[in-house]
Amino acid sequence: MIPINLIRQYKFCPRIVYYNLLTNIKPIFPRQVSLGNEYHDLQNEMLKSRKFKKFNIDFNEIISDKYFEDGDLNICGKVDLAFLCDDEIIPIEFKHIEKKPSYSHVLQLVGYGLLLEEEYQKKFTKAFIVYSNNMKFHKIDITYKHKKDFFEIIKSIEKIVRNDILPNSDANESKCIQCEYLNFCNDRF
Ligand code: SF4
Repeated sequence: MIPINLIRQYKFCPRIVYYNLLTNIKPIFPRQVSLGNEYHDLQNEMLKSRKFKKFNIDFNEIISDKYFEDGDLNICGKVDLAFLCDDEIIPIEFKHIEKKPSYSHVLQLVGYGLLLEEEYQKKFTKAFIVYSNNMKFHKIDITYKHKKDFFEIIKSIEKIVRNDILPNSDANESKCIQCEYLNFCNDRF
């Protein structure tokens, strides 16, 4: 099953997906990654005292930090947070960066929404990315194109796994120099 957090990595460079799923390489991640993880832990702790009024959502239940998988979709992942409403589910992701969410972030959230949609049989049309301790957020209206793009990436990842060959990459120097797999890509500088 394909972990949803690989979507963003695939968009950065498909080879990272190959290294991740098909090798035993254990890279040393930069400090930025551990800061992101610490931010997630902090947010989860703070969640216990949150009322979520800012979102103006009429929800029945909140799901927090819960793992889901779906064999038909062939995807899995841990949902940061989601509102369960009468007729819809709304996933939420926490990011420690303030800038506008990238398309990869959005597609990752689409994956979590699709998992929830299947699990609870409720519609999935919007999501939030929360980016500060004061619960500032971006609302994302999920479109047909988002879902189509998500499934195209899943198909590409499935192909990488099936072929079991290091894929070509058009990653440029600025990407490669910040990549924890640089030592393993012999065709790079
Ligand atoms: S070093 Fe460059 S080509 Fe190799 S995995 Fe990283 S980003 Fe991709």
